[in-house]
Amino acid sequence: MTLDRASIVEIDKKTVWHPYTPMQQYIERARPLVIERAQGARLFDADGRSYIDGNASWWTALLGHGHPRIIEALGRQSRRLCHTALAGIVHEQAARLADELVQVAPGPLCRVFFSDDGSTAVEVAMKMALQYQRQSGQAGRTRFVALEGAFHGETLGVTALGGVELFRRPFAGVLLDCVHVPSAADGYERAFGALEQLLTESGRDIAAVVLEPLVQGAAGMRIYDARYLVMARELTRRSGVLLVLDEVFTGYGRTGPMWASEHVDVHPDILCTAKGFTAGTLPMAATLVTEQVFEAFLGDASRAFYYGHTFCGNPLGAAVAREVLAIYRDEHVLERARGKARRIAEAFAGMAEIPGVVSTRSLGMIGALELQHGDGYLAQSGWRVYEQALERGAYLRPLGNVVYVTPSLNIDDDELDALLSIVDSSVRAAVSEGS
Ligand SMILES: *Cc1c(COP(=O)(O)O)cnc(C)c1O
Repeated sequence: MTLDRASIVEIDKKTVWHPYTPMQQYIERARPLVIERAQGARLFDADGRSYIDGNASWWTALLGHGHPRIIEALGRQSRRLCHTALAGIVHEQAARLADELVQVAPGPLCRVFFSDDGSTAVEVAMKMALQYQRQSGQAGRTRFVALEGAFHGETLGVTALGGVELFRRPFAGVLLDCVHVPSAADGYERAFGALEQLLTESGRDIAAVVLEPLVQGAAGMRIYDARYLVMARELTRRSGVLLVLDEVFTGYGRTGPMWASEHVDVHPDILCTAKGFTAGTLPMAATLVTEQVFEAFLGDASRAFYYGHTFCGNPLGAAVAREVLAIYRDEHVLERARGKARRIAEAFAGMAEIPGVVSTRSLGMIGALELQHGDGYLAQSGWRVYEQALERGAYLRPLGNVVYVTPSLNIDDDELDALLSIVDSSVRAAVSEGS
């Protein structure tokens, strides 16, 4: 028996604690969408209405919902092996996925550590960086560097890297030591100077610089100058600091090429991937490292990386992740997204002239605009657009006063045009309602 909409919401409001949601307001006022199913670029709710999934369900469903090959791969694998440990034993899917991933990874990344989600992929990177430095005779390197406005996930470790004050505040005083430097999104020269000065003056205390390459997603789709990555690579190499690229959001073609770092051919020491890794099907992540990093963990058993989650390398996730890579190849996903990226860029450039829109930006399959009367993450203007968009048939969860789209990479051109036109009309309606 399936429940009706009202009963689902009633149970939900009594028992579910929602992520990133002020719960008092939610319980008192929210009329949440109740999603029943999804297909391609569309979500269908319990009232029989459908919405274009403007953010590919939190940036994950890069091949749309319910891709038949993914469903098939999942079914096939589930009949053979759903789960087994990966500590010192192995299965075909994990081995082959690691091999296939290394082949598409940038530069000399050649070892793959599996985990569950974006946060753990970065958490793994942080622990690896600290232990790597210690085992390379650099025990004094215990600090991290991240960008102002950075977002790297939710575990307590990676919360230290986060540069959004509102998210850090409850944990002030107990976080790992992380220096936040100005983002190149606020000016390349200043950002360059600050990182250079920091690494020159206190580079010997630093284990790793962690960056979201080219786009700071959660900070509001803030796009920065690719030269910053080149410079960060150069400076970190010179000062013995590891460069960690968090491609959890930017990987798998979100910004155009497979990895954002490929815009400028920068090779990190450690790379993190999740979100698009299983195209939004299952929680699964990977942290890739160079042979140089890996070798520091060889030798005596006390040098091993004593870390692992129960579901590391999960066979279902691994089978799906392999199918995702195969679909990227067979369906020429990146090539075919180029024309779609142009449509996004043109549409957002056009929206710059809407009164109340302060700025617009785009990169690959990302388009964003910033609304006036901003108050950072808690701004209400984006939520007015959200409501307008729902009425018009699109799901457009904002980031504060930033309205953005990050659709599936294989969204039909017609659906994409419909989505972009809904963004345009919803922003116009919300701006005139708010003024
Ligand atoms: C979403 C995100 C994370 C966290 O991933 P989860 O799967 O939500 O834990 C980390 N880094 C970046 C850049 C992200 O966008």
